[in-house]
Amino acid sequence: MYQIKLYNTATRSVEPVVTHEPGKLTMYTCGPTVYHYAHIGNIRTYIMEDVLEKLFRLAGYEVKRGMNITDVGHLTSDADTGADKMLEGAKREGKTAMEIAEFYTNAFFADCEKVNVAKPETVVPATSCIKEFIDLISVLFDKGYAYMAGGNVYFDTSKANDYYRLTGHSADDLMVGVRDDVTEDTNKRNKSDFVLWFTTSKFGEQELRWDSPWGYGYPGWHIECSAISLKYLGEYLDIHAGGVDNIFPHHTNEIAQSEAAIGHEWCGHWFHPRHLNDKSGKMSKSKGGILTVSALEEKGYDPLAYRLFCLQSHYMKQLVFSYESLDNAASAYEKLISRVASVKAAAKDEKGEADMAKVEEYKQRFIETVGDDLNTSMGLTLLYEVLKADISAMTKLAIIDVFDSVLSLDLQKGEIKNDEVSGGDETAHLEELLVKRAEAKKNKDWATADAIRDEVKAAGYLIVDTPEGAKLKKI
Ligand code: AMP
Ligand code: ZN
Repeated sequence: MYQIKLYNTATRSVEPVVTHEPGKLTMYTCGPTVYHYAHIGNIRTYIMEDVLEKLFRLAGYEVKRGMNITDVGHLTSDADTGADKMLEGAKREGKTAMEIAEFYTNAFFADCEKVNVAKPETVVPATSCIKEFIDLISVLFDKGYAYMAGGNVYFDTSKANDYYRLTGHSADDLMVGVRDDVTEDTNKRNKSDFVLWFTTSKFGEQELRWDSPWGYGYPGWHIECSAISLKYLGEYLDIHAGGVDNIFPHHTNEIAQSEAAIGHEWCGHWFHPRHLNDKSGKMSKSKGGILTVSALEEKGYDPLAYRLFCLQSHYMKQLVFSYESLDNAASAYEKLISRVASVKAAAKDEKGEADMAKVEEYKQRFIETVGDDLNTSMGLTLLYEVLKADISAMTKLAIIDVFDSVLSLDLQKGEIKNDEVSGGDETAHLEELLVKRAEAKKNKDWATADAIRDEVKAAGYLIVDTPEGAKLKKI
């Protein structure tokens, strides 16, 4: 069984993911709050989680993965004056909260599909698990962790075991949540306490409410992930994933309430991809001006160019989005597809079969490379190495398929056109000459630039200068 190493927020180090049951991985992902479209920042997080899941599958693990859909309880503020985000969405669009939830859940999965993010096998809307939330809160009451104040049920964080351990910060640093849309509630025993159940007394406007032992009301946001994860993935979770903004208070609270209920450590590994920002700062749904995958597609970008853009960077680094860098990724993507198309064309003329020992060797190298803290950019470098390698085209295609089961870039989707061969595998050395020529032109070294043009011509290709750079055309 392959070992996969990953940065663990809980220990602040890169360490092997040791699963509770050998060869089996349980993974929970915080799902979207469906009051608006998912922006491309959100989608970056889901892409990195998707790569992680697929890497474990390639490494031979049996993966059980669950995700919630937040369709109730996520407030714009932690104070009981804050509105439910779903309610805000419903007001904005003159629809019911459930209509909003359905619409944006579908939009979310449609965008995920465009970037080849697979739907986790278990996807659970929070509103379908109210009984489980009530049961879990009841356990917390029985064990002395929950209390009522001002009509709401709170979790007493002073009773939690090392409440701040996930954050690596002290209580003073974190009095106000990391998320820009969460503020404090003064109606608590301890500043860090959080609501498990809201009651009707404070939320006359709340559309979605249920009966509970504590009054007619609705659940807090944090309880849903604990309850859904415990129900579908069991008491021992191997990886919990979510964007970096979730570390505090959301995941900190999930740990507190889950461990209070089950009485032992809950989750071994915490995976938190960093944010995608734009030049003006953080991208956030609550700020508006949301850029979606579908919007990129409407602008003419292949959504998978956005996936490549994400894979080119390490998930632990903040990424700044600009159209210039997306253009670079789009052009790299086009070239990549075209090079693989050339390999496909070459494979058609080959006899025999792929060299499976080589395929296995590269598979192992890929898992080791990407499995070193999800190093997707080194995984891409290995892909380029395969394209250049001195092995049969058929073997290359088999290796590309293996890599693509994780990268999910639809690498084999291209077809060679008759006279357009730019980026093709047999022209790889000519492509390198194009790079040298561009360099020579930049240095005003016209003699070298002309010599390269002649060399390329002698190989049977013309150099065509285009706004996107020089291209090769068969003579
Ligand atoms: P939400 O729908 O707001 O609950 O967020 C869905 C997922 O996207 C969560 O895992 C968030 O942590 C993550 N997320 C939120 N903002 C960003 C961002 N700017 N870049 C990357 N991930 C984000
Ligand atoms: Zn969550």
